Amino acid sequence: MAVAEAVKKNAYEAALENFDTAADALELDYDTREIIKYPERVLEVSLPVRMYDGRIHRFQGYRVQHSTARGPAKGGIRYHPYVNLDEVKALATWMTWKCALVNIPFGGGKGGVACNPKEMTQEELERLTRRYVASILPLIGPERDIPAPDVYTNPQVMAWIMDTYSMAQGYTVQGVVTGKPIGLGGSLGRNEATGRGVFFSVQSACTHLKIPLKGAKAAVQGFGNVGSIAAQLLHSHEARVIAVNDSRGSIYNPKGLDIPKLIAHKKETGRVSGFTGAEEIQPEELMGMKCDILIPAALENAIDSDNAPQVRAMIVAEAANGPVTPEADRILEEKGVFRIPDILCNAGGVTVSYFEWVQNEQHLFWEAQDVYNRLERVMHSAFAEVLKINLERKVSMRTAANMVGVGRVAEAVKLRGLFP
Ligand code: NAD
Repeated sequence: MAVAEAVKKNAYEAALENFDTAADALELDYDTREIIKYPERVLEVSLPVRMYDGRIHRFQGYRVQHSTARGPAKGGIRYHPYVNLDEVKALATWMTWKCALVNIPFGGGKGGVACNPKEMTQEELERLTRRYVASILPLIGPERDIPAPDVYTNPQVMAWIMDTYSMAQGYTVQGVVTGKPIGLGGSLGRNEATGRGVFFSVQSACTHLKIPLKGAKAAVQGFGNVGSIAAQLLHSHEARVIAVNDSRGSIYNPKGLDIPKLIAHKKETGRVSGFTGAEEIQPEELMGMKCDILIPAALENAIDSDNAPQVRAMIVAEAANGPVTPEADRILEEKGVFRIPDILCNAGGVTVSYFEWVQNEQHLFWEAQDVYNRLERVMHSAFAEVLKINLERKVSMRTAANMVGVGRVAEAVKLRGLFP
């Protein structure tokens, strides 16, 4: 199923199902489940924006705080035509378990605006961003809720968020948002952090499965921030990235694509199609490609019950959030495909977001290598913790990852007690 169509399916139902499975495995009591399962706060905002032609266009936006039990809510902001409240609730829920899994002192949140940035000018995007921030202002702040980039938002959007929030406060507040440009207090290594984390988790999975990374074949769906960096790191470690796609086309070269050149081509043309030395294929061919590592790095529900039977990869590394539906997950399990669950695989982004926030709070900046080393330690140790539960308890990697995340949040609410 095409990703654009698939995101309309209910990711929130999948998020609740993931929670229930982990809570059952943990034998979590009913009261604790009731406290931690559902979003703490949901805000829906209507955003009138004056467009380039002088007319007003109204956009719908959301910010959801799923949990603040372990610290401020944390999660990206998505700009995409299919953004809807259930999707944002699902993404916020996954953020809670993800932050707890890598043991950083954040809860989970997410935001989004239903819009198509590809059809908007920079000025329109800036006005939309500033109006959105003004509307969610009571909820966000460095101690409350800290946005970050997600699909079709980038460091420039984060800069506008920081500026709008700072204007309202009357002074500059760097720690209100992460994924900022370096010149505004962003962290070295944040832009590549999610893709780098994906690479570290693939590395761990290959070691566990005894698949040599050198020469391993990989296919990557989605060639944005996360997919392109993961592909780049695989390429530089001599894996062969044989197929790649984006929303506009899919390409294939059995000898391996030259990823640095492909990144330059995508930058220049805005698409992967038309790259010299590759043949054009259909998106479903990429998903069914015989390879060692399949990396869905676009949107939710990319692998569903329709295309899961065609998957021929040894490892599915979930760089995107929620790319495998629960039904597809069962099919992959039966086929013996090793899945690195999203909350583990893509946790590098929020981990370096946490590093950025720490640096902002301390007004002290770290060197890039320091960021990479710390990230590597966090990713490898989270992978090892999840794998241990997977092997000892004989549960899937997804359930094991959720057990760690849900377990830590459950512990926090028990320690805090119930207000009032
Ligand atoms: P991005 O906007 O930089 O890139 C998204 C890519 O997906 C683009 O190349 C786009 O063309 C492609 N895409 C969209 N529809 C597609 C389709 N139907 N088929 C194939 N490709 C398609 O976004 P990103 O930041 O790289 O995020 C990708 C995924 O990773 C999302 O699920 C996001 O939630 C998740 N994620 C991102 C971060 C982060 O730090 N950016 C952190 C954790 C998780």
